[in-house]
Amino acid sequence: MVDPTPSMPPPGQRHWRPAALSAVIGAHALAPLLWLSGAGTGWAIAVLLAGGALLVWGSLYPHSRLFGPVSTRLPGDRPVVWLTFDDGPCADTPALLEVLDRHRARATFFLVGERARRAPGLVREIVRRGHQVANHTESHPAGRFWLLGPKALAAEIEGAQATLTALAGAPPRWFRAVAGLGNPFLAPVLRRAGLARVSWTARGLDGVDGDDDRVLARLLRGLRPGAVLLLHEGGPDGRSARLAGRLLAALDERGYAAVLPPGEASTSQLLNGVRPHSGENRADSPRAPSSASSPARVG
Ligand SMILES: [Zn+2]
Repeated sequence: MVDPTPSMPPPGQRHWRPAALSAVIGAHALAPLLWLSGAGTGWAIAVLLAGGALLVWGSLYPHSRLFGPVSTRLPGDRPVVWLTFDDGPCADTPALLEVLDRHRARATFFLVGERARRAPGLVREIVRRGHQVANHTESHPAGRFWLLGPKALAAEIEGAQATLTALAGAPPRWFRAVAGLGNPFLAPVLRRAGLARVSWTARGLDGVDGDDDRVLARLLRGLRPGAVLLLHEGGPDGRSARLAGRLLAALDERGYAAVLPPGEASTSQLLNGVRPHSGENRADSPRAPSSASSPARVG
C-alpha cells in the first residue's frame, strides 16, 4: 500500500533502458536453445521460469520499475499531497468538483477516453475548475492490461491521449495504468506520447472495500509529505464525493494541502501557456492562471 522508495521522474520517460524487457525476451529465446543443445531440460525450465517471474513481477507489482520509471510521490518535505481520482468522468464528477472547491484543493483526474467522449462537458468542467486531466487508457481493459501486446497497448494509450487532448484542449502529461498494472511494452509507448507513469503512495481500495472508515484509514496511514493519494469515481450513492470530503477534512485537520505536482500547471493553465511560480498551486483562485511564462517539467 505504501511505497518506501519515493521518486518523481520527469514526464516523457526519457531515460528508459529496455534491459528488463530484453531479459524476458532473452529468457524465452534461450530456453528452447538450451533444451535443443542438450544442456538439459532442467536448465531450460529454470531459464524459462526466471523470465516468467520477471514478466509477472514487472507487470503485476504496481510500483515495479522493471519496465520503466513510476512516480510514487511528490518531491520535498512540505505538508502537501497529490490527490488523484481514477475512472471518470461520470455522474460523480460534479459533486467531486464541489467538494474540491469547498476545501480549496486541486486534484488530477485520470480519465478513461471513451467515458470522456460520452461526457465532454464534464471534462471541460474539470479543466475550468483548475484541475488536471490525465490519461487512464481509452477503454479501461481491467484484468488484461498487463497482457496487451504493443499494438493494442499503444491504441489504448494513444486513443485516450487523442480524446483527452481534443476535449481538454491540452495534452495530458500523466498516465496511470489500469489497476496499477505494468506491461513490458509500456515505457516506449508512454515516451512517444510524452507521458509519465504515476502509481500512488497510498490507495483506499474504495473499489473493493465498501467500508468508508477502512478506506480512509488506509489513505491516512500512508499520509506523509508528498504522498500521492488514490481514490476512484463511480462509487454507489454518491460515495466517491463523500469519501473525498472526509479525506479532505482529515487533510485540513492535519495541515495538509492537496496540490498538483510542483511546477505543474493545471490543464487550464497549460491552455494559457502559464504555470504557477511555487508549485503550491492550491485552488486559491482556480480560474485565474498565474503569470509565469511556460509549463515546466516535473523533476
Ligand atoms: Zn481504473
